[in-house]
Order: sequence, then structure tokens, then C-alpha cells
Amino acid sequence: MKVGFYGHVRQYHNIKKEIDDNIAKVLESGEYVQGPMNKQFEKELAAFHGMKHAIGTGNGTDAIWLALMGLGIGPGDEVITNANTFFATAEAIWIAGAIAVLIDCDPKTKCIDPAKIEAAITPKTKCIIPVHLYGQCADMPAIKKIADKHKLFIIEDNAQAIDAAGDTFKIGELSDAMTTSFIIQKNLGTFGDSGAILTNNEQINKVTRLLRAHGSPARNVHSFGFNSRLDDIHAGILSAKLKHIHEWNDQRGKWAARYTAGLKTPKNFLLPYAKPGYRHVWHLYAIEVKDAAKRDAFVDFLVKNGVDAKTHYSIAIHKQAGYPWGKGARIVGSLANAEHNAATCVSLPMFPELKAEEVDYVIAKCLEWDAAQ
Ligand SMILES: *Cc1c(COP(=O)(O)O)cnc(C)c1O
Repeated sequence: MKVGFYGHVRQYHNIKKEIDDNIAKVLESGEYVQGPMNKQFEKELAAFHGMKHAIGTGNGTDAIWLALMGLGIGPGDEVITNANTFFATAEAIWIAGAIAVLIDCDPKTKCIDPAKIEAAITPKTKCIIPVHLYGQCADMPAIKKIADKHKLFIIEDNAQAIDAAGDTFKIGELSDAMTTSFIIQKNLGTFGDSGAILTNNEQINKVTRLLRAHGSPARNVHSFGFNSRLDDIHAGILSAKLKHIHEWNDQRGKWAARYTAGLKTPKNFLLPYAKPGYRHVWHLYAIEVKDAAKRDAFVDFLVKNGVDAKTHYSIAIHKQAGYPWGKGARIVGSLANAEHNAATCVSLPMFPELKAEEVDYVIAKCLEWDAAQ
């Protein structure tokens, strides 16, 4: 059996008419950039989150640096985030001209460890960017407490956890802005690139709307800006998919529960930790191979058996040779948990359109490998 890592085409087939109808609507409208479909989707997205403003962007990376610039953060400023995230989180800080200050993650949730934040704060620190990694929220109340004490902004990088929630808080509620990505592999993804900023903050709304479109408040009038917009065709596709996201995330939760029940108590790997009371939306089902030396062989075994397993992310940000070290980032404290995660993580296929027999096949192959060690 072959089990893919993504179900993009299955998902398209399941709601083909809704997507095709919206694409046709855009094509017939004659307006393809910041047209009516973009405005409609921005309204729907803001309403979905119970927030005032959604600002569509060209991708999720742009959403982060646009939000930073919307807060006036740039050269000379420092922004704290965790070392185990997709590269774009740190990259966006660098694009904004600020220094990324990388700290360690919580060993269980893999999200930023609030206990490590204060040691990284300097007079230059302006913002904390927690990442809701793999579909589970960071500990926002703890982060908010620190941010309030030190008068720092918070931007939630929510590229991986649309529709997630904490036990006592909602995503987007305890920060100045939240960003997301709609690249196809995210829980809510279009057939290409796009992203968004969500905020209740009027300044961020106003400034990022200008920045994303050539700093232009009216035709022929410009201040400094960029071009990073959410095209109307993508807005139409996302509008159709947004109606299903909650149910799709529920289905991811069912597959996660099936993996967890089926894998039981393996000898050689640890199952993902889901925080009690949180709504985890299972962007990834990431397990941890206890012996890092065996991780790559395990992935090879799965791939040879038709299971498209991947690693997220096998090189922590501070180990990336390509990062502009010295001027773009610095490290605070031990990053042992982030490094351990990079060395041991394996992501199993996870998407709503999986079939029970596919999940069971992946479980069987994992157990077969486990028994052979
Ligand atoms: C995907 C992702 C991004 C970047 O989004 P793009 O749309 O690919 O630019 C940023 N942060 C995290 C955590 C992501 O997973």
C-alpha cells in the first residue's frame, strides 16, 4: 500500500463544485486583485476568528514581517522566538531588519518555553513570536504575562494551527496580531501561496493594508510599501474551504486518536503530547524516535514500505548555515530541546482525507519496525 503525506487532490474532489464555482465567479467578475472575492474572504476569515480585521497577504512569511513592520519593529530591535520552527519565522524577523533571538522549546509541546523568555529580554526586545507548532497552541497566558510585564508586543505565528484553541483562551485573543499561511500543505490551504494577518489593532490593520499594496491609500498616491496581496482566485478557493475547516480538523483529531490507540506503547518512539483541555488541530502527527541514531533508518523503512513519512524540522534554525548569523540572529541559553527534536522527529501522514485502512497500515509498519529493534 502507498500512503501519501498529503491529500490535496482528494480534498479537491470532495468539494470540487464549491471550489470550481468560486473560481468561475472570480473569473467572471473581471476583478482578480483585491477584488470582491478578496474582500469577502477577509470578512469571513475575521468572523471565523471573532476578530476585527483580516488582511490577506501573498504568503505566510510576508504576513509575519508585515505585522512586525505594522508595529514599527525593525533595525535595532530584537524579536524572541523558538529555534524549532519552520525557517520562515526567523527569516521574517530578518526581513523586517530586526534580530531574531532564538530560545528553546518546551520538551513536551515543542512550543516556545515561557520559562526561557525572560532571560532573553534586553532593552532592545520589542516582540515575542510564539509558534503554535504542529497544530497545538503555545502557552499564551504565560507568554502574555511576560509581555505585559516587559511591555512587549506578541505576534502569534499561526501558520500551523487555524481553528486550534487553548483551555482558557482563543488563538489571536492574547496578542497584538496573529499571522497565518495558506500554502497548500497547511490545514487551510489554497492551490498555491497566500497568507493573512489577523488583528484587533487599528494601527496594524491600517499600516499593513498600505504596506501590502505599494503604500498606496489612493490611486497614484504612494508611501513606502511592497506588493504582497492575496489574489482573488485563492480567496475564492479559501472561502470554499473555510466552511469545512472545523470538520476537517475534527477528522484530523480522529486520525490522531487512531494513531495513538494503535501505536499504544512503542519501545522505540514517543507519541505526540496533547495538552489537556487544548484543541489540537493536528497539522502534523509528529512522533519522536528515542534513539536519534535510528531516526533516519526508521524514515527510510517507512518510505521503502510506501509510507511517505517526513521530518519537521530536522535542522533547527540556529544550525542553518544559510542564516545571516552575527547580524540576523543570536541564541540565548541551551537549545537542547530544539536540537533533540530536530534529531528525533518523524511526521506520519496526517490529513483529513486519509482512510482508516491507510492509517492502520502506517501503524502496522511503525509497529513492525519497533518490534525489529
Ligand atoms: C508555513 C509556515 C510559515 C510560512 O508560510 P509561507 O506561506 O510558506 O510563507 C511560517 N511559519 C510557520 C510556522 C509555517 O509553518
